[in-house]
Amino acid sequence: MDGPQADKLIMESIDKNFVDNDEYPQTEKIQERSVNMLARLFNAPEECISMGTATIGSSEAIMLGLLAHKWTWRERRKAEGKDCDKPNIVMGADVHTVWEKFARYFDVELKLIPLREDLYTITADDVAEEIDENTIAVGAVIGTTFTGQMDPIKEINDMLINIKDDKGWDIPIHVDGASGGFIAPFLYPDLLWDFRLEQVKSINVSGHKYGLVYPGVGWIIFKDKSDIPDDLVFNINYLGGNMSNYSLNFSKGSSTIIAQYYNFLRLGFSGYKAIMDIMSLNAKYLAYELKKTGKFEVINKNTTFPVVTVKLKDADFTVFQLSRKLRQKGWIIPAYTLPKNADDISVMRMVIKENFGKDMVDSLLEDIKESYNDLESKNEEIHKNENPSLLY
Ligand SMILES: *Cc1c(COP(=O)(O)O)cnc(C)c1O
Repeated sequence: MDGPQADKLIMESIDKNFVDNDEYPQTEKIQERSVNMLARLFNAPEECISMGTATIGSSEAIMLGLLAHKWTWRERRKAEGKDCDKPNIVMGADVHTVWEKFARYFDVELKLIPLREDLYTITADDVAEEIDENTIAVGAVIGTTFTGQMDPIKEINDMLINIKDDKGWDIPIHVDGASGGFIAPFLYPDLLWDFRLEQVKSINVSGHKYGLVYPGVGWIIFKDKSDIPDDLVFNINYLGGNMSNYSLNFSKGSSTIIAQYYNFLRLGFSGYKAIMDIMSLNAKYLAYELKKTGKFEVINKNTTFPVVTVKLKDADFTVFQLSRKLRQKGWIIPAYTLPKNADDISVMRMVIKENFGKDMVDSLLEDIKESYNDLESKNEEIHKNENPSLLY
């Protein structure tokens, strides 16, 4: 997000409380329009009345999406006269911590599918093994936090349709599109991950990631009105007028919502696409050059999203040391271990953003190579001198 116009708009609305929509009715309209645009971007079928709301980020959005599915499941179980005290949720260990937070805070059993050493997402078969009549939803990610990959959403959807026909369990998918939700529609319009899939009922996306807005704004979009239980929507009248509200927070700022709408109008589909294209090119270039050194293995091989995750091939040092070395040159590149059961694999992740041009990629590459060589020669010295203090 940049430009004096955007900053001015934000400053003009910095004093407005979003919840006061009787006083600021236009802000609510702007939210509705943005929700509508996102529902179209995520290919909601024409016959659906999609609904949604702006949130502080994807975290609040995920909580709201999953709560709705918990309620729907419980209402259905009650109506069938079945017990409803053991809800569970199924997802892979490749999810963001907020999913685990939901399970703990809202008392839902977490069925976390471990990863493998050779695959850092889940499979439809993994999901099939974990679901049962008490599953409120399956979580799937497009653009994972750890490697920038994608769960096989289409395969999971097809498997769930078979289960629905076979056993009568109607299990929704909530797609975590925190990053990928603003990338896939522009770069891969034919990729089936969104509301075109029957079981995908809700999607979250972060406005402050590839939505290109300042923090904090996110969105939860429900495919259809019927996917939000009435019970969870509060109608309040004490601010004047009647308003319905589905959120965890009451008061919040309006400016990021207005900024999101500004970006939608200012950039349009083609503007977003042009930015995503360039980011993707830069990410692919970085991945290609790192691979060419012969020292790194690129984990997200197709580099579908503008994220490059690498592990070291056969170095005498770790990605943690390399990351620390790069910090001395001013680069903050996180190094971490992957989730269970791939947790003996350590990687380094580079997220390519809008303002990260090719000149910066070149300068990063140079610093990575230099740091690598420094560590390598230092390690040789250590072996020679057996003096570990040389290593930081
Ligand atoms: C960043 C992220 C989140 C959390 O989103 P916030 O907008 O920071 O609350 C959740 N899931 C994924 C996959 C993410 O990348």
